[in-house]
Amino acid sequence: MAADALAELAKRRGFFFGSNGAYGGTAGFYTFGPQGAALKRNVEDAWRDRFTIREGNREIEAPTIMPEAVFEASGHLEGFDDMLVECPECGESHRADHLVEDATAIEDAEALPGEEVAELIADNDIACPACGTELAGQPVEAFNLMFATDIGPGDAQPGYLRPETAQGIFVEFPRLKEYARGNLPFGITQIGPAYRNEISPRGGLLRLREFTQAELEQFIDPEEDEPPLDRVRDV
Ligand SMILES: [Zn+2]
Repeated sequence: MAADALAELAKRRGFFFGSNGAYGGTAGFYTFGPQGAALKRNVEDAWRDRFTIREGNREIEAPTIMPEAVFEASGHLEGFDDMLVECPECGESHRADHLVEDATAIEDAEALPGEEVAELIADNDIACPACGTELAGQPVEAFNLMFATDIGPGDAQPGYLRPETAQGIFVEFPRLKEYARGNLPFGITQIGPAYRNEISPRGGLLRLREFTQAELEQFIDPEEDEPPLDRVRDV
């Protein structure tokens, strides 16, 4: 079944549909309908049963907004970027690396420096997918994917919606280690929303601006513990 036929069926049957349709829609956000919300909950429960309960790990639930210092430390403020190129004619923003991948045999354009991606756009006469204007000569810029917000009024401190659930686990490691009575190894899981201000969301539920992550972090003592990597090597 083609992707758009599937999306149409999912909408009709109450599984999922683009959010805010009454106000023109908002790309990258989906609402799970009654069927979809129930199915999603079942998937989360199955994941929880497998990775939290049966593996003997512990689940936490951290806030989705965190202060800037956390993302400075994690490197997300500096480097959680995608490559953006803007159309000079219609103003539409595009993922520069995706345009190059679609037009050439290059598979991982994200790994290339921005200037090289800009050159490839020019060399391959790549045009704006929205209006057809050639994008040669347009700068390729780093665009940070985190949604910014303010924490508190007045001289508010800057905060960000977490771009992945991991930060909420890592930042509480000292407290969690105390809870484990100082004994490594232990595993912490978390299921919850993460947010990325994607330049051009696409593929239905595959590239969203708000989505649910299920994550397991295992903390080991590198001197003493052998991480159980063999079990997941072929996953
Ligand atoms: Zn355009």
